[in-house]
Amino acid sequence: MKVLAILYNGFNAAVKEPRLLGTVENKINGLHHEDTSSLHRKVSSDKEGPNSDFEKHIVDAEVLITTPFHPGYLTRELIEKAKNLKLCVTAGVGSDHVDLNAAVDHKIQVLEVTGSNVVSVAEHVVMNILTLVRNFIPAHEMIERGDWQVSDVARNAFDLEGKVIGTIGAGRIGYRVLERLVPFDCKEHLYYDYAKLPVEREQAVKARKVDDIEDFVSQCDVVTVNAPLHEGTRGLINEKLLSKFKPGAWLVNTARGAICDADAVAAALKSGQLRGYAGDVWNVQPAPKDHPWRTMKNPLGGGNGMTPHYSGTTLDAQARYAAGTKAILENYFEGREQEPADIIVGVGAWATKSYGQR
Ligand code: NAP
Repeated sequence: MKVLAILYNGFNAAVKEPRLLGTVENKINGLHHEDTSSLHRKVSSDKEGPNSDFEKHIVDAEVLITTPFHPGYLTRELIEKAKNLKLCVTAGVGSDHVDLNAAVDHKIQVLEVTGSNVVSVAEHVVMNILTLVRNFIPAHEMIERGDWQVSDVARNAFDLEGKVIGTIGAGRIGYRVLERLVPFDCKEHLYYDYAKLPVEREQAVKARKVDDIEDFVSQCDVVTVNAPLHEGTRGLINEKLLSKFKPGAWLVNTARGAICDADAVAAALKSGQLRGYAGDVWNVQPAPKDHPWRTMKNPLGGGNGMTPHYSGTTLDAQARYAAGTKAILENYFEGREQEPADIIVGVGAWATKSYGQR
C-alpha cells in the first residue's frame, strides 16, 4: 500500500524546529503510528507537472495526504489515472484542491481535520482587519526606512470602533471572528450565509443576517471572507460585486484566493474603491513572483496586507492537524468509523453541504 504525502519544504527551519510538522522534513509526525513492511510512504514537495513526484506517485497511491498550504491539485484527470486511490486527507481545513465531484464519482473519500486551525485563522483575520484599518504596514515600513512623517500614515488610519463589519460565511471561522470583534464596539456585525444562525448565537455576537450579497457589501466598511471555495463562491468577488462595495472599504480574505478575481481586486485597490486588501490565500500556491497581489497598492501607497499562506499553520495549529491526520489514518487502516465532521466526501457521496448546496 502506498501513502503519498505532498507537503512543503521546511529546509533548515524544519530541522531546527521539529514542531514544523507540516513539512517534508517532519512528515506530519511520522504520518502513521506504526511502520509496516507493506506500507510504502512517499513524501515530497514536488507537485507541478507530469514529471513531478505528485503526478508520478499518485497513479498507484492508495492514500494521498496534502495540506492547503502547499496543495497537490488533484484534478479529475489525475483522479482518473489514480486507479488505487481510496482516501485523500487534507491536513488542515479546506479540500478545494481536490476535484470533489470527481472524488464522488470515483468513490474516493475526502476527509479534512475539521476545526483544527479555525482559531488560528480567526485570530489572523482580526489582525488583518486591524492592520488595514489602522494603516499599520506603511507606518512600520516608514520606521524601517528611517523616516518619521506622522501625517503620511495618519491620513489613512481609522478606528475599528463604529465601523460595519461583515463576514461572508458565519461558520467555524466566521463566527469566531465576530466573537473576537465584540469588544471593539463596531457599529454593526453583518453576515451573509445560506443558513440563519439561531437567535441566541446571533445575539451573542450582535450579528444580523443580510440575504442579498450586493446589499450586504454595500453596507460594510470591512468585508471578511470565511466561506469554502466551491462552484458557488469561485470568482464571487469580481469587478461587478466590487463596484457595489462602499467606496474605500477594506477586504480581508483568508478563505481561498480564487473566491476573488485577482485582477479585479488589484484594480479596485489601485483606484481606491478598496482602501485595503489582506489575506494569505492565493489563486495559485506558491504564488508566482509577478502575481499582482504581491505589489498592489492603494493610491496612497499602502493597503496591501498579503502574506504567504500561513494563518492556519501556526505551531499550535500544526500540532492539532497532525494529530487529526494521524487519527484519520488510524481509523482508515483499522477499519473504524471516521469522525462525521471530518468527512467531506464519503464513499460515492457528498457528506457535507459546506462546499455548496446540492
Ligand atoms: P465552515 O465551518 O464549514 O464554515 C463555512 C461557512 O460558509 C458555512 O456556514 C457555510 O454554510 C458557508 N458558506 C458556504 N458557501 C457559502 C456562500 N456561497 N455564501 C455564504 N456562505 C457560504 O468552515 P470553516 O472552518 O469556517 O472554514 C471556512 C474556510 O476557510 C475553509 O473552507 C477554508 O477554505 C478556509 N480556511 C483557510 C485557512 C487558512 O490557513 N487560510 C485555514 C482553515 C480554513 P453552510 O454550512 O450552511 O453550507
